[in-house]
Amino acid sequence: GREWHLVARPHGWPEAEDFALREAPVAEPAQGRVLVRTLYFSVDPYMRGRMNDVKSYVPPFQLDRPMDGGAVGEVIASNAEGFAVGDHVLHGLGWREYAEVPAEHATRVDASLAPLSAYLGVLGMTGLTAYAGLFEVASFKEGDAVFVSGAAGAVGSQVGQMARIKGASRVIGSAGSDEKVKLLVEEYGFDAAFNYKDGPVAEQLNQAAPDGIDVYFDNVGGDHLEAAISSFNVGGRATICGMIAQYNATEPTPAPRNLALVIGKRLRLQGMLVNDHRALQSQFVQDVAGWIASGELKYDETVVEGIEHGYDAFTGLLRGENTGKMIVSLG
Ligand code: NDP
Repeated sequence: GREWHLVARPHGWPEAEDFALREAPVAEPAQGRVLVRTLYFSVDPYMRGRMNDVKSYVPPFQLDRPMDGGAVGEVIASNAEGFAVGDHVLHGLGWREYAEVPAEHATRVDASLAPLSAYLGVLGMTGLTAYAGLFEVASFKEGDAVFVSGAAGAVGSQVGQMARIKGASRVIGSAGSDEKVKLLVEEYGFDAAFNYKDGPVAEQLNQAAPDGIDVYFDNVGGDHLEAAISSFNVGGRATICGMIAQYNATEPTPAPRNLALVIGKRLRLQGMLVNDHRALQSQFVQDVAGWIASGELKYDETVVEGIEHGYDAFTGLLRGENTGKMIVSLG
């Protein structure tokens, strides 16, 4: 089966030469493992960090080894109790056509409850990030005015809608195209949205939130975080979830320059990692499945067909070619 290897560490924007799609042998699963044919794998912004050789909360990808990440597939051979041929499983060995997965790292998922790709997005890692980041990390409460950046992406689109469902006084989103801005207001029910490429974020946010904001869900960092700090009301809370504006930066980025406002406004800026919030999983799935069923919560996926387009899907994600969750389909 084919699998994607990182063959050189990108400096700045990843280049096609940094990756290779290589053929690898497919073996029968060893004791306690299952062989899974990949149906979908996830490309995620955090993978850019793993391409650098730096100490972080997840180890770097190794050169000339298959990359990994979230994936859903079908068990085609099982050497583990509790797994049968034909089962669908979620696991962490993406970026390859066939994965030999230790049973303890495979979670059975039900294709009759949701489309299988949803377990990588709205019912999976990015959905839980939104849920935990808004309700637990930002301590969202009814009546809060909420601003989310990256608002048409996998995490951001869910944050804004969850805030609306739970009674936010105002939900504001920013995204990188006019079509995305339209989607936020017309489909996802945001009260206001703007295209951050149209002008200074601080000015646009100020116009969209004349009465200030109470919660900022940060997916972008930089100017967006600086603008949120300026717009915060006293007691504002930011979930620092991602800073995608700087993932390809080769120099340190300056903003926010107004951090001193944290003092007088008694702001809380709280970093998060989704893996700390696994305890919320069942409550999250119950709430989100209910909201999807009732039509209150919508989600989009951008599905790129074919393992050979894995690199294009990943860099497309960094460029904003996705609406909602970016997924590679091997169907
Ligand atoms: P998205 O689906 O939001 O895709 C990334 C989006 O980022 C693109 O669609 C693009 O949209 C936007 N973007 C790219 N470059 C810039 C830029 N310079 N300025 C502003 N926006 C930009 O990805 P996810 O929902 O998976 O992730 C969103 C964020 O959450 C990321 O920062 C990610 O690292 C973080 N994250 C953190 C987790 C944690 O545990 N802390 C877990 C999961 C995600 P546009 O067209 O609007 O520019």
